[in-house]
Amino acid sequence: MDFHIMTLFPDMVMSALSESIIGRAAEKGLVSVEAVNIRDFAHNKHNKVDDYTYGGGAGMLMQAEPVYLCYEDIIKRIREKKGGSGEDNRVRVVYMTPQGGVFDQKMAEEFSKEEDIVILCGHYEGIDERVLDEIVTDHVSVGDYVLTGGEIPAMIIVDAVSRLLPGVLSNEESGITESFGDGLLEYPQYSRPEEWHCVKVPPVLISGDHEKVAAWRHEQSLLRTMERRFDLFRKYVRSHPDEFAPKKKRRKRK
Ligand code: SAM
Repeated sequence: MDFHIMTLFPDMVMSALSESIIGRAAEKGLVSVEAVNIRDFAHNKHNKVDDYTYGGGAGMLMQAEPVYLCYEDIIKRIREKKGGSGEDNRVRVVYMTPQGGVFDQKMAEEFSKEEDIVILCGHYEGIDERVLDEIVTDHVSVGDYVLTGGEIPAMIIVDAVSRLLPGVLSNEESGITESFGDGLLEYPQYSRPEEWHCVKVPPVLISGDHEKVAAWRHEQSLLRTMERRFDLFRKYVRSHPDEFAPKKKRRKRK
C-alpha cells in the first residue's frame, strides 16, 4: 500500500515513519510512504504558500493553487503506476482536519483496503475551501482538539492502517486480539516475573487451562470496557443480546 502525504514539513513525517515497525515494513516493500512538499509547487519568488483570509480575521490560510498542483502531481504518478489515465482510478484523498469524522479502528480497516491513499496536512488556519471541495474525498479528525498541523494526525493514520496490512506485524506483534478488534478493550496482560512488587500474576494465567484463560480474558475485557469506555460497552451489549440475556433456570424434577 502506498501513502502519499501532502505536507509543508516532509522531514517531520519521514523521520517518524522510517523507524520501528513501519520503517521495517517499508524496507520489506509492504508499504511505501512519500511526503511531498507542497511548497515545491508554489511558483513564486519565496515559495510562499499562505496568504490572508478574505473577510479578515487572525492567521494565514494555505492557498488553493500549490495544494492543487501538488495533488495533480501525485495523482498523475499514481495513474502512471496503475497504467491508466481515466477517472476510474479513483484515489482516496484524506484531509486531516478537526472538522472531520473521528478516526477509529473501523476507518483504519476501511482505509487498509485501498492501494493508494493521499493524505493532506493543513497548517496555519487551514486550507482554502475551494481546493478542499475539489479534491478531498474524506475529512478525518484525530479527536476533538486543535493541533498546529496535520502531520501528527497523518502519522497516526499511516501507523494504524499499516499495522493491519498482511505481513507488517510479526506473530509476536500480532494485532488480532487487540483493543477494538471485537468492539471491546483488551484484557490486562502480564509477563515475567510471576511476582513483582508483591503482586502476583492472576493464577488462572498459569493454570495451563486454555478455556479458563479465554473465559477470564473475555470477562476482564468486558469489565475494563465497562469501567473505561462505557460508550463501547453499551454498543457491545446491544450487538450481543444473547450473551447478556438472563439465563433460563432449569426446572427441578419432582
Ligand atoms: N482553523 C481550523 C479549524 O478551526 O477547523 C484549524 C486549523 S489547525 C490550526 C491547522 C491544521 O492542523 C488543520 O488544517 C489540520 O490539517 C490540522 N489539524 C488540527 N487539529 C486536527 C485534528 N484534531 N485532527 C486532524 N487534523 C488536525
